[in-house]
Amino acid sequence: MSGARTGRAGETLPVVNPATGELITTVPAVGADGVAVAAERALRIFETGIWSGRSPRERAAVLLRLAELMERDAEILARLDSEDAGKPITECRTGDVPGAIESIRWFAEAADKVFGRIAPTGGESLGLVSREPVGVAAAILPWNYPLAMAAWKVGPALAAGNSLLLKPAEATPRSTFHLAVLAAEAGLPDGVLTVLPGHGSVTGQALARDPLVRALSFTGSTATGRRILAATAETNFKRVSLEMGGKSPQVLLPDALDYGDELIENMIEAAFLTMGQNCTAGSRVLVHRDIADEVVDRFTRAAEALVIGDPAQPETRIGPLIDHTARNRVASAVESARSAGARIHTGGLPADLHPQGAYYPPTVVTAAPADSAAVTRELFGPVVTVQTFTTEHEAIRLANATEYGLAASVWTRDLDTALRMARGIEAGVVSVNAYSEGDITTPFGGWKQSGFGGAEKSTDAFQQWTREKTVWIRTR
Ligand code: NAD
Repeated sequence: MSGARTGRAGETLPVVNPATGELITTVPAVGADGVAVAAERALRIFETGIWSGRSPRERAAVLLRLAELMERDAEILARLDSEDAGKPITECRTGDVPGAIESIRWFAEAADKVFGRIAPTGGESLGLVSREPVGVAAAILPWNYPLAMAAWKVGPALAAGNSLLLKPAEATPRSTFHLAVLAAEAGLPDGVLTVLPGHGSVTGQALARDPLVRALSFTGSTATGRRILAATAETNFKRVSLEMGGKSPQVLLPDALDYGDELIENMIEAAFLTMGQNCTAGSRVLVHRDIADEVVDRFTRAAEALVIGDPAQPETRIGPLIDHTARNRVASAVESARSAGARIHTGGLPADLHPQGAYYPPTVVTAAPADSAAVTRELFGPVVTVQTFTTEHEAIRLANATEYGLAASVWTRDLDTALRMARGIEAGVVSVNAYSEGDITTPFGGWKQSGFGGAEKSTDAFQQWTREKTVWIRTR
């Protein structure tokens, strides 16, 4: 956490509870000079070998201890993300926090299982190919899954031996701080993990431009990804991995309703988890014409039944959006779809919500023009559009009619149809008869403008945080 002390005196960021509008705390905003100091310190620490020079098994032991401490403090971590981001506490308790602990543990266990290789050279030489840490690495995080995204990056970055500079999103720094405190308690040497809270345009840009940072892993919007890539191109060409937005389809073939309530529950989760502020949100339902009316009816009723309220209450499924700007953006896209002829299906908001909460109700939009913002843009809110198709070909064309390509789900009992759809859809993850991003063993990364530069999760994640070296030995 040493980086938190390097901001310009007095500069702070407010952390506001989106459910109430109340100020929770303020945190220091680290300036460009603070980033430079932190990067230099991280490089010095890397060069000492105090972490990078330890054996992978020794690093694994510290990270496994970190996972244990996260388990001990699971409720604290869940509350921090729930309060900062307005996420329903049950989602944090059952999804984000256990997922983050699993990530740290899995990458710890993988630390000494990533092997190099010997190239098939002739008898007079030996080609050793190994993966080495990059040195100083950085990660820039979004606010929608603060702890979970931190863990996806901290796990492999530290297991590989790097020094890591970690920038949380403006709105959600507290679980990242707590993670760093736990890492210190677990025995991570001082300066190996530095949390740098601050504004994206200042702290984030400084990380993207810093000449000592050799790898940068970013999760956030496509617009910011573009700025980061431009900054790195203008400076030191650091290795960049971008995990960005999505407009993911849920494709329902004519037999999808065979899955009954399971289908509807998965559709609800895909659409409304974290109030739809989810990069893999299934925000476009593409449904075969023959079952469209029944699907819309059942899905809409299920959406309207979701409990909207205080994120701190265990029964709440829908909390506020991250802030009023986000709420207004979502509302205006829905209103413009309505004025262009779309039908809006929503149960509205309960009367007893906190008046300062940035709430927006789960909303299903039918008959929206194909070129409306509701259909084409990542709204990042609890809004789903429904479009119909008659042929598989048309379904694939609609699924791919977006510049994003992060995730998709396909529902059918027919394996051949499922595989044809999965092959045809341009997305990093296609789940069949489930809404899923896979698990920690499967790589996660986007196609098209959803991202590139190396996956998260699975042993593939090490490619983001290591660089390959060939040692060529002449033998006699
Ligand atoms: P954002 O792009 O506004 O911010 C993300 C991070 O980038 C924040 O830490 C922010 O401070 C920083 N940032 C902002 N401007 C910057 C700049 N000019 N230079 C460097 N850093 C800068 O995104 P957000 O609103 O926090 O998150 C929502 C977005 O994240 C959505 O588009 C969502 O789809 C995406 N997301 C993607 C994944 C994925 O794995 N693909 C996962 C979660 C969220």
